[in-house]
Amino acid sequence: MSVNYVCKHCHTLIGRIEGASVDKNRLGFNLLTRDEQNHYVQEHDNGDITVRMTCDYCQQAYQLNPELYGLASPLQ
Ligand SMILES: [Zn+2]
Repeated sequence: MSVNYVCKHCHTLIGRIEGASVDKNRLGFNLLTRDEQNHYVQEHDNGDITVRMTCDYCQQAYQLNPELYGLASPLQ
């Protein structure tokens, strides 16, 4: 299985963990509420996991132009 961290804004692959025995509890998912897990963590049928995050680029863009993302985020 693999865990892929993808930017929810620009869909850039931020990071990737591959391994047969990735322990979800060691990824910090257990620190999220169930709502947050449903929102940010997507488990696929093949066992892969996609985690939706914000990359550094979008983080900076958001800080510079918060109004842009105020328009875009409801579509996510
Ligand atoms: Zn991004």
